[in-house]
Amino acid sequence: MNPPSPALCTYCGAALDALEIHFGDVCFGETCIKRRAEKDWGAVRDRAAENDGVSDPETYPATPIPAQQRKIEPLPAERVALFRTHLETTIAAAFVLESEGAEFHEAEPESSWYPPALSEWLGAICASCEGYCCEAGGDTAFLSTDTIRRIMRREPGISAESIAARYLERLPAESYAGACVFQGPTGCTLPREDRANICNVYLCKGLKTAKWNWEEKGVRRAFLGRMSMNGLESYSFLAMDDEARRDEARKDEAPPGGAE
Ligand code: SF4
Ligand code: SF4
Repeated sequence: MNPPSPALCTYCGAALDALEIHFGDVCFGETCIKRRAEKDWGAVRDRAAENDGVSDPETYPATPIPAQQRKIEPLPAERVALFRTHLETTIAAAFVLESEGAEFHEAEPESSWYPPALSEWLGAICASCEGYCCEAGGDTAFLSTDTIRRIMRREPGISAESIAARYLERLPAESYAGACVFQGPTGCTLPREDRANICNVYLCKGLKTAKWNWEEKGVRRAFLGRMSMNGLESYSFLAMDDEARRDEARKDEAPPGGAE
């Protein structure tokens, strides 16, 4: 029997990996993502602009992001226990590997290499989707021996107990149901330098589009469409350029009740 044919990107024909198939039929190559975003979202954006009275929608590149639909709930004790077990096992293994001089892969957080303004821009978009992708963090937060070894190398002499305490005391009282144990109501409760590397480097399709537009075209605007399996849940026009800042300043200076 022949093996099943691989799923291919609609635009470039590259074979799709499991994550790309989960999100659709386009690969995560920046050109393909951009083409899909513009094709599918241009019309949605223009209708939204009409509703909201946005006069220049074409200056807001269409940027689809997922819609967060999980509810906030108290972090269940069973999930804390599962995380604690994972943490303690991982820390113990990290100390053994470090003492053996085993191979080490985890670099410092890549996002710290981004210019501050770009980090702020990407952070604003992630805040707008309320960290949908953090659902994958589950009861482990992706913490691996390499994450722990990164801390050990940054802070020589730190004890296993101190590392464990650092993580446990950061657990939020409430988190998104079923998502990462560290995903609290206002976002991740871990500092970037203590997160697993994937937390600092992952960019969903929409975020890749926004980063590409920022770096390649100097665009500081995005039309964010929050999508679920049911379609478009909500949208917003986001801007971080000088013109948008001037508009905000003008609004702040306007007398209460609007100009007469
Ligand atoms: S990477 Fe994408 S899915 Fe994850 S928080 Fe940011 S915008 Fe949301
Ligand atoms: S550790 Fe933070 S960034 Fe990473 S998956 Fe959990 S909530 Fe998201």
